[in-house]
Amino acid sequence: MVKEKEHSTPKGKKPLIVMKFGGTSVGNADRMQSVGEIIAEQSRNAEIVAVLSAMGGVTDMLIRAAREASRGDRKYWKGVRQELARRHREVADRLLSAAEQAIVLPRLAEQVGNLENLCSGFSLVREVTPRAMDTLSSLGEVMSATLMASILRSAGVAAEAVDAAELIVTDESFGNASPHFEETHAKTRQRLAPLRRQGTIPVVTGFRGATADGVCTTLGRGGSDYSATIIGAALDADEVWIWTDVDGVMSADPRLVPGARIIPEISYREAIELSFFGAKVLHPKTIHPVMKKKIPVWIKNSFNPACPGTKIAPVAKNEQPGVKAITSISDADLITMSGKDTLSFPRLATRVFNGLHLEDVTTLMVTQSSADNVLCFAIRDADLPRVKARLEKTFELEMLHEYVGILDVMPKIAIVVAIGENMKGTPGIAGRAFGALGRRGINIIAIAQGSSELSISFAVKSADVKDAVKAIHEEFQL
Ligand code: ASP
Ligand code: MG
Repeated sequence: MVKEKEHSTPKGKKPLIVMKFGGTSVGNADRMQSVGEIIAEQSRNAEIVAVLSAMGGVTDMLIRAAREASRGDRKYWKGVRQELARRHREVADRLLSAAEQAIVLPRLAEQVGNLENLCSGFSLVREVTPRAMDTLSSLGEVMSATLMASILRSAGVAAEAVDAAELIVTDESFGNASPHFEETHAKTRQRLAPLRRQGTIPVVTGFRGATADGVCTTLGRGGSDYSATIIGAALDADEVWIWTDVDGVMSADPRLVPGARIIPEISYREAIELSFFGAKVLHPKTIHPVMKKKIPVWIKNSFNPACPGTKIAPVAKNEQPGVKAITSISDADLITMSGKDTLSFPRLATRVFNGLHLEDVTTLMVTQSSADNVLCFAIRDADLPRVKARLEKTFELEMLHEYVGILDVMPKIAIVVAIGENMKGTPGIAGRAFGALGRRGINIIAIAQGSSELSISFAVKSADVKDAVKAIHEEFQL
């Protein structure tokens, strides 16, 4: 077993913790106040770097404002401008000292002004480029971080808002940018060093980064989790805490399984698997930056700070063997293609996956059967039109001459995924899972498990998803 790095800090030195607060955690003045209290309290025993999302709902509103503006509608974004000003103003009125208000209100007004300039530009040119969208959609983070730093100062805690565009250097994939880690590490350390020396808490905007030329980018929806681990890795933090609105990572979606429970500890690989397959608690890329440095990540509830939450560690403590958690994606389609006896499986697969790659589509599961060279894969329903069009074009001639089978789409599919690192080498797990589904009369349409044995995926009808998740949850007594 890999030995876990001990994050013991020298005596007298406080551990460094990067704490990220999500949109619901900073959704209104009361929530902002609680977060201010959490940061102040935690800063007694630890050195804190805070990372903030926009106030809940703000990012959606900004994106919609840009879209409507680019259609020439000037009314919608004007409403958003008012709502944005009102929500942030309300927090400032309630939680800031008069002196802080004098500093912060003009800064908030400046951001609202940015919205106005951008949207009025979009409505003039009837277009919004991905690049301009990033500048606009991440304004909410600038506003929330500005407010939180000021809330802390109003309570006598030294804090300063920092724009992550000054820390995180990314490529130019606007809307879903990837960090350049080396540059990011250097910039982050350099920019935050003076604050850290003075004991000032940096309050950093989540979601945002910038290209090497300083053009604002974003890390994808829900990307503030990712911001937190990028910054944690850059600073060699002792831990990263993701504060959200649930008590931790759950053994299943509680809306599907009322008896689902909090898992005290999971491994990095289990967390990655869970977030890839639809568990909403973490942005799928969150774990990558901290893997090499083995920095633990905690999921904690800002509405219930006393609850310890879930620890995501390099290697989870071994408890019972077998399944640890179940997740599902219920808006999937299964696509089947046959190379018949003309197109070998590798040739068929190469061309299909090249097409998916060109469309930037992620597959959820893939299977092969050799008779007739049949390839079957699952994708999200939202990707179906693009995938169909692409494959029909790719195989236009072959389909015409019936060298390949038609593209068969089975809609309304759910992918149920049982996850657990300890499934590896434990015989009988799949048998038990299949048995549990069989006894409830649930038909399994496709199955996939990789040799890492980290997860087993089953495709079932969407209508069966709830029963299937429940059945497996019960079978493994999660
Ligand atoms: N505010 C951004 C979003 O809603 C980023 C985040 O909250 O993580 O996607
Ligand atoms: Mg989130």
